This record gives sequence, C-alpha cells and structure tokens, in this order.
Amino acid sequence: MADAHVLTETLNRIDGRGYKSYSEIRGRFDFDRFTLFVDHIQGDPFAAPSKLRIRVPAREAELPGDLTAPGIRRMASADFLARSVRTAIAELAGSRRARGSHDAAERDRAGGHDGGRGGGRGGGRGSGHGGGRAGGRGSGKSGQIFIDAGGQEVLERTAVLIDPDWIEARIELGLPAAGRRILGREASVLLVEQLPRLVETGLLGKNLSLDAMRAFVECVENQESIRRHLEKIDCVAFVADGSLLPRASGASELPMADAQAIRFRSPESQAVEIEIPNPIGEARTRSLRGMGIRRGITLIVGGGYHGKSTLLRALETCVYPHVPGDGREYVVAAPDLVKIRAEDGRSVSGVDIHGFIDRLPGNAQDGRHRTRAFSSPDASGSTSQAANIAEALELGARGLLLDEDTSATNFMVRDARMQRLVHRDHEPITPFVDRIRELHERLGVSTVLVMGGCGDYFGVADTVIMMRDYQAQDVTQEAHRIANENESGRLPETTGALEPVAPRRPLASSFVASRGRRQESISARGRELILYGEESLDLRHLAQLVDPSQTRAIAQAIRLASQGLMGGARVEERSRGPEKSVPTLAAVLEALDALFDDEGLDVLDRHGTERGTERHPGNFARPRRYEVGGAINRMRSLRVQPSE
Ligand code: ADP
Ligand code: MG
Repeated sequence: MADAHVLTETLNRIDGRGYKSYSEIRGRFDFDRFTLFVDHIQGDPFAAPSKLRIRVPAREAELPGDLTAPGIRRMASADFLARSVRTAIAELAGSRRARGSHDAAERDRAGGHDGGRGGGRGGGRGSGHGGGRAGGRGSGKSGQIFIDAGGQEVLERTAVLIDPDWIEARIELGLPAAGRRILGREASVLLVEQLPRLVETGLLGKNLSLDAMRAFVECVENQESIRRHLEKIDCVAFVADGSLLPRASGASELPMADAQAIRFRSPESQAVEIEIPNPIGEARTRSLRGMGIRRGITLIVGGGYHGKSTLLRALETCVYPHVPGDGREYVVAAPDLVKIRAEDGRSVSGVDIHGFIDRLPGNAQDGRHRTRAFSSPDASGSTSQAANIAEALELGARGLLLDEDTSATNFMVRDARMQRLVHRDHEPITPFVDRIRELHERLGVSTVLVMGGCGDYFGVADTVIMMRDYQAQDVTQEAHRIANENESGRLPETTGALEPVAPRRPLASSFVASRGRRQESISARGRELILYGEESLDLRHLAQLVDPSQTRAIAQAIRLASQGLMGGARVEERSRGPEKSVPTLAAVLEALDALFDDEGLDVLDRHGTERGTERHPGNFARPRRYEVGGAINRMRSLRVQPSE
C-alpha cells in the first residue's frame, strides 16, 4: 500500500512532464492521520478540478460520540465539518498570500501566466454558497482547493460523510501546472504538506472548537424538534421572538446588520411557547416564545415596504434548518409548505387544474377546453399559478405560501364590478379567494398569503397579521368586523366542490438524456438551470431551491428516477395493463426519498453504479420532493400517461 513518501516520489518523478502523467497518482495513499484517495484526475489545468477524498479514522478525529449520533445530529455535524474545512482552506490560502513576494518570484520562475488568485472565497460560515478555495499558482485552477460547504441553510450533503469508523471530506483540487507541464514540487507541497494541515485544523476534534460544533448541532436539533412539534400544536410555522428576518441585500442571504434591523416579536394573541431539547443562550433557556402560524388561512397585510414579503420569504426558506447567527435559526416551517407564484411561459404537462380553471376557450368536443389534464408549452400567468398549486397538491403539500407581489391578479380575485362586467360564463377562472377555504376544510391544506392590496380576503381568513413598521400585530377581529360591515358585493364563483387533484403518471420515455453524439449529457449551471439532454430546464422560480448542489442533485435524481423508478416504454411493453405498471409522480418521488434515506446522497453519483466502488460522488445537497417534482414538471419534454 502506498504512503505519503510514494506520493512525493511520484510527484518528483513526473515533475515537468505533460499533464496527463498526473494519472500516475490516482489511488490511495496512507498518511499518518488519514488516508488520501485520489479518485479523479482532471484532464488539463483548465478542466473541472481533480476529485479527492480525505478519510480520517474515528480514533484520530476524536469527535464526541453524541455529536455524531445517527440522524439529525450526524447530518448537522457533517455540515459543520464541511464549513470547518472550508475555513481551513481559506486560512491556507491566507497564509500563502502572506508569503507574498516569495510566491510572486516563484510564480515568475514557473512561468504560469495566470498568477496566484489568492481567493479564499467563502471562508467561514454564512459566506454564501460554494466551497472554499485556496488560491493557486500556475495555470488554470492550479493549486485551488474546494469543498462544497453550504450557505445559510443546513442541508444533508455529500461534502462530508460521517461513518461510525471514520469521517471523510470530499474535496476538489486543481493539480498545479505551468502551461500544461506538471509542477511536481508544487503538487507535493499541496498534497503532502498542506493537506495534513487542512486535516489538523479542519477535521480533528482536538483542534476544532467543539463548543461551536456543539452549539451548531444543538441548534439544528432544536429546529428539527420544533418542526416535528408544529403539527401537535396545529401550526404550520413558528417565528421565534428575537428572530432577524431581513437580509443584507436583495443579492445576499446574510442577515441585515443588527443595528438596522427590527427583530421579530409575536403579537400576544398569537404567541406560543415551544420547548426545545437543548438549552440555549446565557440563561440556558429551555423553551422559546414566538408566533405560531396556525393551520388554516393566515393573511399578512400591511402597507408597502412594511416587511410582509420578508416574513413570507423567511417561511419559505425555513422549511430547512439554518445556521446559528442567520437570524432565522428559530424560524421553523413545516417541511411540506410550498411557495406558489405565477410563472407565465412555463411548460405544463397534463395537470388537473380544473378546480381553478375550467372551460377555457378552444375547440374541445364540448366547444370548451376542459382542464382535467391541462397542457401548455406557454402557460399564462393564471394557468401557470393554477398548475403550480395543483402540482404542489399532487405531491402532498400541506400548505401554500403566496405573495401578491408574484401572483396573477385575476387568479387571486375578481371583484364585484368585474363580476358585473364579465359574466361568470365567460370567465374560466375560479379565483383563489373562492377556493382557499375548501383547500383547508376539504383537503387539509393551509395557506399563508401576503395581501396588501385587496380586502376581499378578510372574510375567508382565520388570522390576519398586520406588519407595521416591521412589527407584527394581530388585526383579525378588526378585519372580520370590516368584512361584516362592508359587503364586498362579490358573488362566490365556484362551480362544483374542490376535488383532490388527479395524480399523473410520468412516462420514463419522455426523459431523454442524450444530446448529439453523447449518450448522456446532464449537468447543472448554478442554482437555476439544468441541462438535461437537449432540454434546458429553467428553475429560477422554484423559490425553495436554495443551493446549487440541490440543483445538481435534482439533475441526477431525474436520471435515476427515469431510468429506474418510473414506468414507461420498457414497462409498457412487458405488461398487459400499462396503467398499473406506471407509478404516479408522487410515488416516484417517494421512492427517491426512500433511496436517499437508505443509501445516502452518494447514490446520485453518475458513475458509481457498481456497489462497493467508493469514490468522490460529486457535490450534492438534498432537495425536497417538491423541488425535484417541480423540475420534472417544468420539463418541456415531459409526457404523462393519458388518464382513463
Ligand atoms: P413589503 O412586502 O411589505 O412591501 P418587504 O418585506 O419587501 O416589504 O420589506 C421592505 C424593505 O424593508 C426591505 O428592504 C427589507 O429588507 C426591509 N425590512 C423588512 N423587514 C425588516 C425588519 N424587520 N427590519 C428592518 N428592515 C426590514
Ligand atoms: Mg412585498
């Protein structure tokens, strides 16, 4: 078995050779405190960096057993360690920068044309997405180290894996080169000197701040405990007193500076007290007071710029736990709340939207276009919003989050005057205001709705919260009194009762991963775009997709699902009753979740199909089923099995 000396010797030997010779260091090397696995060697200095794993035995890592206990604690610890490695990478880069002039001289000698970008991008916690990069010398990505640690959310991810016997950090590293010639000595400094330092500071219990790690893990565990408790107290969300909801800017998920922000405080009437398993703060508090958003219909009203959307945005992202210090770490939403918005131009395939939109003008048999299986390559504002709701219901959403800022007006309400001008017979839309109570009463689906511009919702709301100067007030009684005293004059527009949405069965054959001569071409670009075969899939409007690594995961999850979990041509051929053999989209997503639960996110690795072949799986974070389904639903190629 090779050790670190062998690695040094090999690197010295291939110094100055062509880049391809780096393939000689593929394999496993035993260091004093860890094992280095070099899994993938980049093709050239400008290609995606090489993939490595650092595996530290549990006896060396010496992490407290209670922090790595299976379940939420292990997930939180893994997330913490990824951030810790990212910080260590930034420190390495910093210390290299400090060597300053020496480096510059060396760089000149090496003749690298793309000098040291000493970019410790994304050091510590809360610095946004992406990993940490230690700056490199030489061409392309030379010398850069990267780990896929998270942003403000704490997610299950592949960056660090905790096993009972070891912990493993999955990193990427640009193997150094001058032009395309190997810089062997640089590589050996990086791998044989700097990686051990990275392990020392980033992964070993004796050097970590275990207090910080414990606080982090306990905070995440507290959030998950509150999340589980919500149902028992009939709530869909909880916003703790003292939470800091606004962000630093429209382009940053970091908290607004404390001096400018007004911290949240629950109105007395909506306050609930929730116990937490781990005491927090100086006072070792064991319970938190905050606003409980009850099941049913909650309206958030208030003047423009008074903090309505900020509160809703917090609920959207707080389906995930947040890091301590985020300001929203004790804002907790039920895991199955789905943000709904208008999204004109999106593709819709066979969705049952008839509860909201029916009898569209068109040439169907009855002269009207029925909408029990609505398809459009270019949905309008209202039909797209209806499709978004129907799809969320189909996948099991228990609550909907809507903001007037991003809703289609005609979908939300038709007021009395418009009802008189345009007769009901000529309006395909049943406005949301006429379905919102049925959603709750018949289907058990709650709604939190931001609405500053229309009082027609007063009468249907269970609770009305007013944001005034960023402070929440309970104005339910007043709103109800106003609704009673001032008839809106509008008539309800429902035709029949709201029924559960008809489930769809996606056909595997509609997911084509090939592109040109390539049999499989699947990739993700940032948070918002997936390239799947010939299709470019726009996920910009999935507000609860928060991390580019979730997007990468979704791209591979679609491949996994369509190649193994769905019916389709293959299944149809060999069975007599195709209806039975093709599972519903909800069932497919459930199977996917079960797969993640059982085998972890490493199953998303495109090449790691053979069991037992361990390798760096790529950078993935776990998406919710609503976002995986949301992506599938937006695919322009998606076809579903015709119903009946
Ligand atoms: P609305 O939806 O009511 O029009 P927003 O939620 O968009 O208002 O907030 C308007 C502005 O106020 C934003 O720039 C936001 O960052 C800021 N803001 C929101 N909540 C707070 C708060 N609690 N303290 C300070 N500023 C806030
Ligand atoms: Mg707003």
